[in-house]
Amino acid sequence: SLRLAGQRVLVVGLARSGAAAARLARARGARVTVTDRRAATELAPALGELGDGVELALGGHDPADFTGADLVVVSPGVPLTLPELQEARRQGVPVLAEVELSARLLPPWPIVGITGTNGKSTTTALAGELLARDRRVFVGGNLGTPLAELVLSGRQVDAVVLELSSYQLEGIERFRPTVAALLNITPDHLERHRDLEGYALAKARLFANQQPGDWAVANAGDPRAVALAGSGRGRLATFGFGPPAPRAARAPEAGGELALACGDGPPERYVLRSRALRGRHNVENAMAAALCARLLGAPGREVQAGLDAFQGLPHRLELVRERDGVEWVNDSKATNVDSTAVGLAAFPAGQPRVVLILGGRGKRAPYAPLRPLFPGRVKVVLTIGEDAPALARELDGAAPLEAVGTLAAAVERAAALGAPGDVVLLSPACASFDQFRSYEHRGECFRQLVEALP
Ligand code: ADP
Repeated sequence: SLRLAGQRVLVVGLARSGAAAARLARARGARVTVTDRRAATELAPALGELGDGVELALGGHDPADFTGADLVVVSPGVPLTLPELQEARRQGVPVLAEVELSARLLPPWPIVGITGTNGKSTTTALAGELLARDRRVFVGGNLGTPLAELVLSGRQVDAVVLELSSYQLEGIERFRPTVAALLNITPDHLERHRDLEGYALAKARLFANQQPGDWAVANAGDPRAVALAGSGRGRLATFGFGPPAPRAARAPEAGGELALACGDGPPERYVLRSRALRGRHNVENAMAAALCARLLGAPGREVQAGLDAFQGLPHRLELVRERDGVEWVNDSKATNVDSTAVGLAAFPAGQPRVVLILGGRGKRAPYAPLRPLFPGRVKVVLTIGEDAPALARELDGAAPLEAVGTLAAAVERAAALGAPGDVVLLSPACASFDQFRSYEHRGECFRQLVEALP
C-alpha cells in the first residue's frame, strides 16, 4: 500500500482520470495540487468534479510544483517525456500513472489488464461481461470509469477488468495483472513513443511484474506481441486463427466458432452467434476475452451465455435498426481508412449488399486501399462532408458513387436504395469534425435519423 496522508501530491493532467486521482489523494489526506497546460476555461467539466481542498496550477506548469512534490501522479494523456516530469524523476520524486496509484490502494483482487493498438474497448467490455455473470466485476480504466473511482467508492468486487493505454503503461512500476492481454501492435501513436520499439517497451510493462501463477495472453498472429508477453514470468497463453495449440484460443478461418484449450482436457468449443461479434477482428476480440475470462475461472457455460448476450459497444458495427429486411449499422468509430476496411470486411463478399456511407474530414491517407474490398460487397457509395471530392477521385470506378453532402441526405438516399438483405453501413473512414462534434455525435445523429425513418 501507499501512505498519502500529509504528502504533497501533484496530479498532472486534469481529464477524468486526473480529477479522480486528485480526489482520491485528497480523500487519503494528501495535500493535492493539480496542474494542466490548459486554462480553467477549457477544463470546465473536470474542474467541477474536483471538489474542495485541491490547489490549482492551470494554464501551464510550474517546475517547482514538480520537484517540490513527494509524489507526482500522471493522467493517461500526459507524456512522461514532459521536461518537468523528467526533472522531477532526476531529483528522485516518484512519478506514477493514475492506474498505478489506484491499484496500490486496492485489496489484492484479481486484475485482468487489456492493451493493444486495436480492439481494447471491445475486448475489455466483453471480458467484463463474461466474468460478471457469476461474480462482482469492476470494468473500467481507459474505457469508462477510471480505476481511482473504484478505490474512492469503497465498493467490494471479486475481479477488476481494465483497459490500459500504452500511455498509462509507461507510468507503471509494480502494477501486476493476474491476466494480462496484449491484443496486437501496429505502428500507431508513433509520434508519442518516437518509434515502434519504444511503443513496444511501454506495452511490455504490462507483463513486467507478473509472477509464475499469472497469465500472459497474446495474439499468436503477432510475433512481437508474443515475444513481449513471453518476456515476463507469467505463463503464456495465445489466441489466434489456425489449428489448436495448448493453452490457447483458436478459431477456424471460416469463423462461427472458437476453441479454447485452457487446461489439460480436450479443447472447449464455443459458438459465436451474437451479431455484435461480426467480422474476423471481433472473432479475435472474442477469443481474447473468452480466454481471459476462462483463465480467471469463469465457468464455460457462462462464457457461452455471455458471448451470446453480448450487445457490443456503441459506434462499432452497432446494429441500429432492421427495417424492411435492411440492416442499418453504425460504425462511426471508423475514423480512418484501416478501421473502415476492418468494418467492411465483416460483411460477406458474394453479392453486393452494402450501401456504404463514407466521408467527413479526411486524414490525408489514401482511400485506394478500400478498393479491393468493394467487388461483390459494395452496392453503392454515398459520400458526405469535406473530403467527398478526394473520395470520388480515389474510388472512381470501384463502385457506383453519389455525393450526397450530408448525413441526413445519405440516410434518405440509402432508404430509397436499400433492398431486403442489404446493409446500410456508416463507416466513414474520416474524422467527424467538419460536420459533427465527435464520432459519437455523428453516430448518435445517424441513429436518430434512422429511427425517424417511417
Ligand atoms: P480500441 O479501444 O483499441 O480503440 P475498439 O474495440 O474501440 O478498440 O475498436 C475500435 C476499432 O478498431 C473498431 O471500430 C475496428 O475498426 C478496429 N478493431 C477492433 N478490434 C480489432 C482487432 N482485433 N484487430 C484490428 N482492428 C480492430
